[in-house]
Amino acid sequence: MRLPIINTLSSRVEVHTLFLQPTPWCARKCKGCYVKERNAEGEQHLQDLVTPFTEQFAVIKTFCEGELAWANEITIAIDDLPTQRRHRNHMLGLYDKVFNLTKEARVANKMLPKMHMTFHTLNTYLSYVDSAKRNSEWYRESFHMEDTWKSLALPGHLLDMINFSQLTNNSVTRNLLAEIRKETPVNYNYLIPRNVNKNNINKYLQHLIDINDIVDHIYLVIYKDPIGKARTSKEIKTSQRNIASDRFYIQELSKKLPTSIKNKIHIDGCLKDVEKFNATGYGCSSNISRFQIWPNGSVTGCAYGDKSISKRIGLTTGAILQNIRTARKLYDFTDTPCHLVDDYNKSEEDLIQLSTTRVGQITKDILKDIL
Ligand code: SF4
Repeated sequence: MRLPIINTLSSRVEVHTLFLQPTPWCARKCKGCYVKERNAEGEQHLQDLVTPFTEQFAVIKTFCEGELAWANEITIAIDDLPTQRRHRNHMLGLYDKVFNLTKEARVANKMLPKMHMTFHTLNTYLSYVDSAKRNSEWYRESFHMEDTWKSLALPGHLLDMINFSQLTNNSVTRNLLAEIRKETPVNYNYLIPRNVNKNNINKYLQHLIDINDIVDHIYLVIYKDPIGKARTSKEIKTSQRNIASDRFYIQELSKKLPTSIKNKIHIDGCLKDVEKFNATGYGCSSNISRFQIWPNGSVTGCAYGDKSISKRIGLTTGAILQNIRTARKLYDFTDTPCHLVDDYNKSEEDLIQLSTTRVGQITKDILKDIL
């Protein structure tokens, strides 16, 4: 089904949410990362064609200025600080320019799109703060003193939301997040663990209980194979089992966690969109109001889209804006199409099995006449 694309009439590129993944280099380290999945050919491929950070910043600035483009919200993925100098300079350069922009806008009382950043860990965040202390005017202007929780929280305070992909509840995390949360909400993007079952579910739910006190939101992310990529029948079966496992995890948490924690939890929008699509025929907002800019400037509506969806490289601001315009004419959810609907609908049987108390083989053998 083709849904109306609401902003095709406007010559200004208007989007609700723009995601920027600036580089592919960090993907080598993180298990399950969608950037890595998209670059499955290997490390050499990851080094090819990355839009210069000055152009990536120019795109963000264009969306902030509002003349040619506007976004209600911009989310930038901040990679673990790379070790190679060229890669490091890219990330630090972008980080510095974006914070300079947000700081100037604060001082001038100018409205910007809501600015969100996603850091891998607290260490990732601190390694950028450490560099800003030495090199960035926007940071030094505000703090001439030694490190305090308040000074370390400054970049967090210049954002509208700060996301972390991995957190542990230790004293440094508690202190720093408490300070950041005085002005900026903290969100935890938690990838739902695999292989959950009745026997181990409590251990995994305990992690949410531990983290609950130190964050404002918990976003439960489900792992997705790259959308649009051809899959083998074995991969399809695995994905169906995985989605059953995710659904089981969500069912269990809604039964077992107190309301105060559940109120902070937001379930992966894709899963909700699939349920919504099954109920109403309307699906996700990718390509309508949400776009993902990849490191090489190609653009997909879907943040998990395979590179086969969009091969058009964009190494300049103009080329990236054009890629967004082109992506607006598609609808990845059904044109690609998004395989989550099918996986979800075929995950019922696995879900029932997970929800049933498992009986060990020895018990099965002894009770074979009864079971
Ligand atoms: S097409 Fe939409 S629902 Fe499917 S994975 Fe992408 S964002 Fe999620």
